[in-house]
Parts: sequence; structure tokens; C-alpha cells
Amino acid sequence: MLHPDEALERILQNTPVLGTEKISLEIAAGRILAAEIKAADELPPFDNSAMDGYAVRSDDLQGASSGNPIRLKIRETVRAGSLARERVAPGEAIAIMTGAPLPQGADAVVAVEQTRRCDGWVEALHAATAGDHIRSRGEDVAKGQTLLKPGALLRPYEAALLAAQGITEIEVVRKPRVALIATGDELIPPSAPLSPGKIRNSNGPALASALTRWGIPTLNLGVVPDEPRALEEAFSRGLSEADVLLVSGGVSGGDFDYTKAVLAKIGVREIFWKVAIKPGKPLFFGVGPEPQTSVFGLPGNPVSVLICLEEFVRPALEKLQGRHGGHPSYHLKGKAGNGYLTPKDRRQYLFCRVNSGPEGFELEIIRPQGSAMLGMVVQANGLALAPMGRDRVDPGDLLPFRWLK
Ligand code: AMP
Ligand code: MG
Repeated sequence: MLHPDEALERILQNTPVLGTEKISLEIAAGRILAAEIKAADELPPFDNSAMDGYAVRSDDLQGASSGNPIRLKIRETVRAGSLARERVAPGEAIAIMTGAPLPQGADAVVAVEQTRRCDGWVEALHAATAGDHIRSRGEDVAKGQTLLKPGALLRPYEAALLAAQGITEIEVVRKPRVALIATGDELIPPSAPLSPGKIRNSNGPALASALTRWGIPTLNLGVVPDEPRALEEAFSRGLSEADVLLVSGGVSGGDFDYTKAVLAKIGVREIFWKVAIKPGKPLFFGVGPEPQTSVFGLPGNPVSVLICLEEFVRPALEKLQGRHGGHPSYHLKGKAGNGYLTPKDRRQYLFCRVNSGPEGFELEIIRPQGSAMLGMVVQANGLALAPMGRDRVDPGDLLPFRWLK
């Protein structure tokens, strides 16, 4: 059995970064930039006021205070989007709104809160220094400077910057297309009534909803029975139409577990099979023939499927999209509130109720838990890692965990 960290490493090593496409800025959140972008314009493009107030000559307000207000004559009002008609002469002010261009002659803005207005005059209750409340042309971004490098994650911040630069189309790494196949003679559609020996296909909707949430286009090839010929046909279609093929079920050692044999027959090269985790041990990963497809043989059990999806498939999807496909973060730590027996030779993922108390997070490990227990998983808001090399978690142990959001 492969160590889970090694399994992830091998997945990432064998997963390429996809090609690029041009898309509109408005739908770029979460994508990775493929080409460098330089600034076409300075930001801000002109000197402007950072406050609602009065544009003044700082020399006029030497020594002004609430005990010593200094009166200035108001020449006009300049609003955002317009230019002042006049310049500020000694003893004068121009009322100015946030974002309006600084009038000629002025070198500072006094905030409206530091003034008193009477008729055509304003009294400054505070001294001013040159530059006060002014956003200077180019202070944020210089013309020609590198704004973003390839590999940058596009968040709403980047969208704002690029829009401010007049850039509305950008080149990003394209998204992978993922094909889904659920295998099993026992599976009936979720909409069907139960009949003896049958269960509803819950992996299909679980995988589809995760991919939808991650914004990944999905080709759902439905349920295929445990028959080699039918499996071969479905897997071949997945290989030819998708960048990633996710198969659930049929990947263990049962008499009718054909997934691995059929994948091998159609040219999928095994990278590994079986990982030292619980749940999820039978996980298979392989690489299809050119054009390369990443193939995951996910265990059939519904909890195992979701663990493998989060821990191993998601990093691969991120790598394909040009993101650094690191491990989902387990940087938070919580104190186990109760004990649990765990396998010594595997990393166990423990479903927990996380409570935050005065001394940090407390993890209530849900009991019992198992790879097919769906009523159990929905009780959890956190997933903790039990360390390998130990056969138990004791109350008070500090465990890394992540939120199940
Ligand atoms: P398998 O790996 O095919 O032996 O499946 C392991 C367990 O997961 C069995 O109990 C299956 O019935 C169950 N299972 C497999 N596929 C699904 C599915 N799509 N939805 C729900 N349970 C499944
Ligand atoms: Mg099966």
C-alpha cells in the first residue's frame, strides 16, 4: 500500500497542465492566468481626492485648529467625473468630492469632517500638509509595470485591477472536462423505487455535484453493469471525450470487479493501486493513451468516493488548470474530545463535529463511522487526520483537521 503523500505526489507528477483559452474577465474568477499582463495606463490616471472635503493650498492653513479656525472663500464645487473650471488662489478653497480631479493650485484636501461651512465660506479646523488626502497619479501602478505573471490565480482583486486597466479578455488555462461512470449491477437510478438487492446510485450525483461546485464541465455517462464489454465501451468513450475519467466501483478484489482489467485492456497505464488510507484504500490511478487522460478508479463505497475525490482528484483538477495542486489544507488543529481506534498502517480520515471553545477547537469524533455510512457523514462539519503508526486516538490528542464546507 502506497503512503497517501506519495500517492498524491505521483498523481501530480503524471498530470499535465492543460492548454489555454481566451475568456472574458467577468467569468475568470478561480482561473489561472496563462500570459503576462503589463500596465497600459497609470493608476490612478490623475491626481484626485481621497475624501469628500475641500481642495486647499496647505500654506493657507498653517496653524489652523478648532481653537483657531481659518476661513477660506469657496470658489466652486467639483464632483467626481468633472474637472474644476477655476484654480485655487490664496485664501480660497474648492469643495471637492471623493474621486474628483484635484483642481489646479491646490496641494491638499481637508476632509469635510474637519471643517465648518457657513454660506460661501468654509472654516478649516485643522492644519493641512501638502499631499493630505490626495491620491497621486501613478502612485499605485506605473505605466508598463508587470501587473500579473503567468500562474496568477484570478480573484475578484485581479478582476478589478484588469478592469481598471481596460482589459476585458484574458488568456487562462482551460478547464478539464471530466467524464463520470458509476459501475455496479446493484445500482438503480436515484428516482427508482427500491427492489430486492438493489441500491440507488448515490456516487453519480455526489461526484456530479462536487464537480458542478468546482465549476468543472462534466459528462455523466451514467451507470454501467459489471460486464466487461459494457464497461469497455463506456470507458473508451470517457477516454476519448474527457481529460479526466472518474469511475466508481469495481476496483477492489471481488469476482466482478472488472475496472482495472478493462482499463488495462484499453491502454490505461497503472500508476498505482491501493493507498494506505481509510476509507478509500482501493483507489486506482492511471494514465490513458494520447491525448493523455487521467483515470481514477474510485472505490464504490460512497464515503470512500468523496474522500478520494477531495484528497486526490481535486488536486489533479487544480494541477490541470495550472494551479499548484497541493494537498488540501490541514493547517488547523483541534483537540480530540473522545477516543477512537484507528488502523496503524493507514491514515484514517475521521468525521468530526468541530466546536470552537475558549481553548481552541474541540473535535467530537462521530461514532461509529464507516465507508458506506451516509447518515453519519452529514453530521460532520470537519474532517480530522488520525496519525499513521498509532492504533488509536486518545481524548486530548491534537489532530489536524479541515472544515467540510
Ligand atoms: P465495489 O467497489 O464495486 O465492490 O463497491 C463497494 C460498495 O460500494 C458496494 O457495497 C457497492 O454496492 C457500493 N457502491 C458501488 N457503487 C455505488 C454507487 N454508485 N452508489 C452507491 N453505492 C455504490
Ligand atoms: Mg461493484
